[in-house]
Order: sequence, then structure tokens, then C-alpha cells
Amino acid sequence: MKDLILVKYAPEIFLKGLNRGKFERRLRDNIGKKLEGIKVEFIHDSGRYFLKTDEIEESIKRISKVFGILEVCLVKEVEIDIHELEQVAFEKVKEAEGKTFKIVTNRANKKFELNSMEVSRKIGGYVLQNYEGDINVDVKNPDILINVEIRNNYAYVWSNDDITKGAAGLPYGMNGSTMLMLSGGIDSPVAGYLMAKRGVEVNCVYYHSHPYTSERAKDKVKELAKILAQYTEKINLYIVPFTDIQMEIIDKCREDELTIIMRRFMMRIACKLADKYGINSVSTGESIGQVASQTMDGLIVSDDCADRPAFRPLIAMDKTDIMDIARKIGTYETSILPYEDCCTIFVPKHPKTNPKLDPIRKQEEKLDIDELIQKSIENMEVVTF
Ligand code: ATP
Ligand code: MG
Repeated sequence: MKDLILVKYAPEIFLKGLNRGKFERRLRDNIGKKLEGIKVEFIHDSGRYFLKTDEIEESIKRISKVFGILEVCLVKEVEIDIHELEQVAFEKVKEAEGKTFKIVTNRANKKFELNSMEVSRKIGGYVLQNYEGDINVDVKNPDILINVEIRNNYAYVWSNDDITKGAAGLPYGMNGSTMLMLSGGIDSPVAGYLMAKRGVEVNCVYYHSHPYTSERAKDKVKELAKILAQYTEKINLYIVPFTDIQMEIIDKCREDELTIIMRRFMMRIACKLADKYGINSVSTGESIGQVASQTMDGLIVSDDCADRPAFRPLIAMDKTDIMDIARKIGTYETSILPYEDCCTIFVPKHPKTNPKLDPIRKQEEKLDIDELIQKSIENMEVVTF
């Protein structure tokens, strides 16, 4: 009898038709990369992976962060023999805490003489007969759920205590790439996480307004990129100097239009970098109505500067729900550190909430847009996590 790791992947992967093999291979590669340095043997068995390794605990911790995985289970590999199954399931019930239990059997091996109902009933009977103390069967809402799976060569047994929830989503890298505008706030790291979860490769750009935004504000963004990288592969963070652009806008444009013009520059630069590095979309942490610049008109006016899809995965989410995800993925504590952001240092007293394209474009005629962008990109810094 051996301990193995059973990896179940998200049902969406089964729906991929002819592409299913590609998704499965990618998932396998992504798991392999996460387990770098750990000796592990993979067994692919119709719709799931079994992993053999001596470092089970560490492996489960790492695998549960791989997108595309539904559950990671620590299972006992058992000979296909009803007496052995009874014994192992019984031990599992004893180990767990609870007053009620249920045995669920899945028999993929149709040659085994008992059907799944018969197996469950037999094991259940054995547990009831041999358990010292109070225990009952509850098929609706059991405290202890024991899974028994009978496959071609072996059977597997595990309880609900042996299951670690996976990160769900789709395998990273299967759905194109995006340039995420990453600020030090709560929202944009969550936006990046959600894009990555759907299989989109994430790269980040941060606009830094030295000396108005400090080195510590920059470090905070680096830390956020590093946390995101735990869920992705390596992440490139492009740190683009933004002060000269902001100064020029303040100098030449109307005060109530500063924010929206600044946002248009952010969009242009993100697209330009995306083009330079072969990235096919951009993403932001905007949510409709959250602040003055995130109105429908504001978003339309920023999108005017995009030459590729601009995704906003948080668009219809409430702040409290965004914060819950931030806590879950471990970015929240870093995001709330109180360092300034370039958007908060030059805020107009009454920013326009319903900007229109023509007047904004007119304002921008006073700026040498290409030159400003060119200079910023020339002076950017790239950090990889
Ligand atoms: P966040 O919590 O992500 O900072 P926010 O609610 O503070 O968002 P804004 O400051 O209006 O909202 O920014 C909206 C979006 O614009 C951010 O989610 C981010 O994608 C992008 N953004 C803002 N400031 C920067 C910056 N300095 N560098 C890169 N992207 C930025
Ligand atoms: Mg912000």
C-alpha cells in the first residue's frame, strides 16, 4: 500500500474536444515546472494524474496553486481486493473526526465482480460492525466522506480530509498573453490573478513618478509582481518613468482633464510595450463606477488609445469581493501598505467624470505624444520574477 497524489483537473478541460490533448500536456508541463527540484513520477490515467514522490506534503502545497486543477488528493493505493479495501476505508474513518460517514465508490474497472453500490455497501457494513463507539451512515450530509475508486490495476481510497482544493481555471499559457497595468493598489493584482487563472500569460507594467512616488512604492509593486508570479511562470515587470509625461500634461492641459489624459498615456504605453514584446492584449484593475476616472465615458475615452483588446476582469465586481480575492491570493497585506501612487499625487479637484473624445484629443494636440512615450520607454527598467 502506497501513498500517492491524485490530481483531478477542471471539467472545462474535458470540453476542449480536439484541443484537449494540448491542454492536458500544458497542465502536465506546468505541474512539472512547479515541482522543480522534487523527484516525481507522473502516471496519466484517463482524465487524471497520479504522482509518485517522497515529498508529498510540499508537492501538494505547490500543485494546488497550478491553474486548471480542481482537487489534489492524498490517496492510498490498494490492491483490488474487497477485504483490503474494507480495512483501509475503516482506518480512514477511524482517523477522521465525525459521527456519520458515507462511502462513495467509483468503479472504472468493469471486470471487478462487485458493482459500485455493492462495494460501498460492503465497506459500510464492515465499518459499522467494527467501529468502537458511535457511528452512523448518513448519505445526505456525512461528516466523513470516504472515496473508493477501482481502476484497472489498483484501487484508491481517500477521505474528504485528504483533499486540497485546487486553483481551478485553465492551464497557464493556453490563452494568449496580456500586459497588466500593475499599480500598488488592491485591484490590479487581483485583475492579473484572474487573467492568469483563465490561462492568459501575464506581464506587468508599472508607471513610476520619481520623485513624487518613492522607492518604497516601487518596491511594493515589485513585491506584488513577485506574489503573482507564484501562480504564473516568470513575470516580467516593466517599470516606466512617468514624471515627465505628467509634468507636461499639467503644464499644457486643462486641470479637470489631467487624469483622463494621463490614463490615455498609460493605455498607449501598455499597448506599445505589448506590441514590442508580442503580447496580444492589455488589462487593468478598473471596476465600473469605482472612482471618477472609471466611468463608462472615462473607459471609452481610454479605450480610444488602445490598439488591441483592453480587458478589465473586475469591471462588474464590488470592492468587497475584490478585497476577498486579494486576501485569498495573498496580495492584500502588501496592497494596503500606505505608499503613494502616481494617480493620487496629481489629482484634479474636480476631475471630469464624463469626458468626451473630441475636446480631449484637442487638448492633446499641445503635446508631443510620440516623443514623450519614446523617451519613457527608452528609460524603462525591466525586472523579472
Ligand atoms: P488599484 O487598486 O489597482 O491601484 P485603483 O482603484 O486605485 O486601482 P486607479 O488608480 O484609478 O484605481 O487605477 C485604475 C487602474 O489603472 C489600476 O487598476 C491599474 O490597472 C492602472 N494603474 C493605475 N495606476 C497605475 C500605475 N502607477 N502603474 C500601472 N498601472 C496603473
Ligand atoms: Mg491605484
